[in-house]
Amino acid sequence: MEQALRRTWTEIDLDHLLYNYQTLCRRVGPDVRVLGVVKADAYGHGAVQVARTLEEAGVGYLAVSSLDEARELRSHGVSAPVLILGHTPPEQVGELIRLKITQTVSAEAKAEEYSAAACAAGGVLRIHIKLDTGMSRLGFLCRGEHFEGGVARIARSCALPHLDAEGIYTHFAASDEPGEDSRAYTEEQFQMFCRVTKALAGQGRTFALRHCANSGAVAYYPHMWLDMVRPGVVLYGLTEMAQELGLKPVMRLKTCVSTIKTYEAGVCISYGRTFRTARRTRVGVLPIGYADGFFRCFSNCFSVATADGPAPVLGRICMDMCMVDLTDCPHVNVGDTIEIFGEKNSAGDLAHIAGTIPYEIVCAVSKRVPRIYYRSGAPVERKLWIGQ
Ligand SMILES: *Cc1c(COP(=O)(O)O)cnc(C)c1O
Repeated sequence: MEQALRRTWTEIDLDHLLYNYQTLCRRVGPDVRVLGVVKADAYGHGAVQVARTLEEAGVGYLAVSSLDEARELRSHGVSAPVLILGHTPPEQVGELIRLKITQTVSAEAKAEEYSAAACAAGGVLRIHIKLDTGMSRLGFLCRGEHFEGGVARIARSCALPHLDAEGIYTHFAASDEPGEDSRAYTEEQFQMFCRVTKALAGQGRTFALRHCANSGAVAYYPHMWLDMVRPGVVLYGLTEMAQELGLKPVMRLKTCVSTIKTYEAGVCISYGRTFRTARRTRVGVLPIGYADGFFRCFSNCFSVATADGPAPVLGRICMDMCMVDLTDCPHVNVGDTIEIFGEKNSAGDLAHIAGTIPYEIVCAVSKRVPRIYYRSGAPVERKLWIGQ
């Protein structure tokens, strides 16, 4: 890779992505569609490249969080069905119709606005109804006293002119959490979903696509797969669930050694002098910092992987750089590649140290970091947001 890219970069393994997608397809079988969740720039992996790869593999649906994200896919030639999981203002319904984007509808008032806007635009808006079965975020309320009213509101929404109600779905709050309590909660959410769809079917309102299963339910609740599943994080080979399913991590984050200097014992390193050398120390400077997504909380408590073994971070991680101890990695030289996560450390290992989830680790890799796409072990494309 040329010099411009020899700072810090990610490698996105499209073979692993394809493998994960196909493994998930086999898992759910031919009667269940797989929707690939590519919101938030495909969890930091690059939405266009991920969507194209999934589309080539015949993906049944894609999901994003907003019209901006949907538009990016369409403007790069992705033609698979796309579902927007979040809200879109009614003023943009004309564009939704023109771009053939499916919109989530989470309340009757929104259905009415969308219907009117679609009528004004002279088209039909494809929608999926969202139920709030216990996530307490978006969706028609249908629990307890809201059941009858909720069903009626959904039925009226679906019957509005210029709306085509293709799907109905809900989102689980704890399908990926261990323990009986989480299991009971997930089952309860699913039962609620089934009760609503059954009541609607009783009135003649059926849906081609009923879907509930996020990654947790794809991994642990086969009876909840219904017509379509919506995996996100496992598609990228992240979390223990992905490991259990035999999936492979898609992203690797790498940097290189820009400088090496040797300091005597007793020397302070980096801001705040939180580290002092205890011996003669060979210190490597790496051009990666918290502005690249290498969180400052990894200061003094993480070891990067070199070809010659682990190298502990020394002192505070700066905005654009950090220092590592190469004393015990004598064969590492200036220009050598360093892995932040990938083969040796996983995004999950970093998440554990940072007290967060692997989702946040990959989403946090900043736009300053080029994404290099690999197929059959060779780079095939790259995406840079800065310095083009
Ligand atoms: C993000 C999201 C998903 C995917 O969740 P994972 O835990 O990454 O599988 C599925 N459905 C909805 C509604 C989402 O917002």
